[in-house]
Amino acid sequence: MAMPKELTKQELSALREQFPILQQEVNGKPLVYLDNAATSQKPKAVIERLKRYYLEDNANIHRGVHALSQRATDDYEASRAKVASFIGAKDPGEIVFTRGATESINLVASSLAQSTLQAGDTVLVTEMEHHANIVPWQLLRDRIGIKLATVRVSDSGELDEEDFYLKLESEKPKLVSFVHVSNSLGVINPAKKLISAAHCEGIPVLLDACQSIPHFPVDVQELDCDWLVFSGHKLFGPTGIGVLYGKKDILNSMPPYQGGGDMIESVSFEKTVYKNAPERFEAGTPHIAGAIGLAAAIEFLESMDREALLAHETRLLEAATKGLQTVPGLRIIGESDNKASVISFVMDAAHPHDVASFLDAAGIAIRSGHHCTQPLMIRLGLPGTARASFSIYNTLDEVDALVEELVRIQKFFA
Ligand code: PLP
Repeated sequence: MAMPKELTKQELSALREQFPILQQEVNGKPLVYLDNAATSQKPKAVIERLKRYYLEDNANIHRGVHALSQRATDDYEASRAKVASFIGAKDPGEIVFTRGATESINLVASSLAQSTLQAGDTVLVTEMEHHANIVPWQLLRDRIGIKLATVRVSDSGELDEEDFYLKLESEKPKLVSFVHVSNSLGVINPAKKLISAAHCEGIPVLLDACQSIPHFPVDVQELDCDWLVFSGHKLFGPTGIGVLYGKKDILNSMPPYQGGGDMIESVSFEKTVYKNAPERFEAGTPHIAGAIGLAAAIEFLESMDREALLAHETRLLEAATKGLQTVPGLRIIGESDNKASVISFVMDAAHPHDVASFLDAAGIAIRSGHHCTQPLMIRLGLPGTARASFSIYNTLDEVDALVEELVRIQKFFA
């Protein structure tokens, strides 16, 4: 089998130059940014594109006949088409721009609460969900009386597949919603297999792809998910822009989430007629620049060899796993053979927040706490973890710096 090409040193340093923010010192040390699961840094291409939009094209879309409005509309709609082709959607009309994954899930939950979901219906999620895929369903529990069932996670942090199949049978959910890659542990769920099992029972599936899409190609037709959500800011794009993909007939069968301008065919006090998707779900002036910036981020990513980027991230994860295993009193949480480049750990000697603060003093940015997955932390019996999450621009030297600093922290607190 041919090995994927890896990034050369020159390619990696050219790549890093695309991210001006990385070229700074924090607390007198070169910044080592390992909080990519929270948000990624932005390449010059995205920053320049945002600047160009505001300097040259800024106007409201879909409404004006003037040149600027036409340009902004064309760019906004071209961004939709770019996102559609990036995730393998059949049609740009299957892409709804939202504020982020959180809004995308809330949109689906709120809309289904007015249509297909009723009191007593069950929504099945997993114990490893981000709060964004728990709380919207709990709101429906309070609002219309749905039930929430959960799939177990094993002690090692992997989804209990058997329990998933059992719950499909025993809970007879009306909807399944689960995370592709755990933001806390990096564990990759076998999405295609799980979606196919749910479909065999006639159950539609929402996939939270926030943490998969920045790391490896995600194709909605191959996965056959009914909805897919992600946030632009984790994919080198701006904050405040996200995506809801939905199969066209499903989106068109869903009632609007919010009402306002741009989502209607006609309005009178007697009767308002809504547009089809995606406009029906984009009431009001959207984040035009955000959508355009997201398309620039996708173009940036597509201009590189994604296999080589993935091979690079895999190498970083392997080096970090090996390195962390040498630190006395450190335990990696989420030990799976199938992980994205996210590594969570706890140390006997120090609380995760102390670990993060000490690393920050050394210029190393990681995340500590529950990572918006409190039920997962409760399941694993942990107050939280320290989490280092890698991206395409991180280096093996940065992994070494992390390990060295962790050894120092262990000695300090021991
Ligand atoms: N789902 C997962 C797996 C995440 O990691 C995140 C953010 O960390 C979200 C959902 C929510 O994303 P956002 O806050 O951008 O809406």
